[in-house]
Amino acid sequence: MRTPELLSDPVYHDEEAARLYLQEVRWSDGVYCPFCGALDDIKPLGGESMGAGWFYCPACQDKFTVRVGSVMERSHIPLTKWLLGFRLMASSKKGVSAHQLHRTLGITYKSAWFLAHRIRECMAVTDPAPLGGEGKTVEADETYFGRAGDPQDTIFITGKGWVRRGGEEKMKVMTLVERGGGARSIHADRLTSAEATRFLVRNADRASELNTDESHIYERVGRGFSAHDAVNHGKEEYARYEKAKDGKKKVITTNTVEGFFSIFKRGMRGVYQHCGEKHLHRYLAEFDFRYSNRKALGVEDPERTERAIKGAAGKRLTYRRTNSQASEGAASHTARLAARRARRAATRAGFDPRFSH
Ligand SMILES: [Zn+2]
Repeated sequence: MRTPELLSDPVYHDEEAARLYLQEVRWSDGVYCPFCGALDDIKPLGGESMGAGWFYCPACQDKFTVRVGSVMERSHIPLTKWLLGFRLMASSKKGVSAHQLHRTLGITYKSAWFLAHRIRECMAVTDPAPLGGEGKTVEADETYFGRAGDPQDTIFITGKGWVRRGGEEKMKVMTLVERGGGARSIHADRLTSAEATRFLVRNADRASELNTDESHIYERVGRGFSAHDAVNHGKEEYARYEKAKDGKKKVITTNTVEGFFSIFKRGMRGVYQHCGEKHLHRYLAEFDFRYSNRKALGVEDPERTERAIKGAAGKRLTYRRTNSQASEGAASHTARLAARRARRAATRAGFDPRFSH
């Protein structure tokens, strides 16, 4: 399946074409039930009153469309606009603001805001493989950005009026970049050795070589890597050449991860001017996604769009059919209804529009 590149393509303005396209992306190996995962016996449902795109799972005795169990569930935004949203957010290097989506897609600002955050959710890596590996270099660095706290969290001070709580403290970001590969970032509470250790152990393959600046927070975790070299920014050293074990020349630098920070900050300042601390991790996921699926790695706009859409389905699908539920055939109608409600709740968990999770 090739995601259409041109915005004049029917998938971006014809609802039927958009639905068929989404079905093909999500169900490339056949339609499966979003409640129980069953592949067999799924039947398309016809009928004038139903509308198109419905399927029925006999095991669950429930019907579903391509939206069910995805970030698009419970949304009244047409699929064509979802697709455009995915396409725009996947292909704009610095991101697209909710205001821009509101104007371009012709939906309310509030809808645009939800749409954008849900697309970010799709871009987040759920089961990350460690970056780096043998013969590869991983750069780690941290940066400060914006202001900590919620922009709306203000207090009244006599003589000053309403001022933002939390003072001038900034938000802290820690990022890992595999040279010639992807990026992974977190919103760090504190920049400590313990936090750096936790982050690196989870996200980097320790067979890699680690490059950092002279910051002491990487010292302890760095000992676990095949090598740990640091550039001394305090002495204005940004790249240093050394001889590697195999006799080849190797460069020690954090310029790659700093390049990532510069794209991130330009995007955040230029496009997303106000970012509350509680949403920072979503924006980081968005910038990580585009960086890890960038053109230089052979991923063009349509392919990147499709990868984001693939993240839409099943992301939060935690429900698994158990044996007791499988043999519910003999159970009463009431019990079946209760089970169905529970399934729906489980499928929808995590799609709370208030993002309270
Ligand atoms: Zn089912």
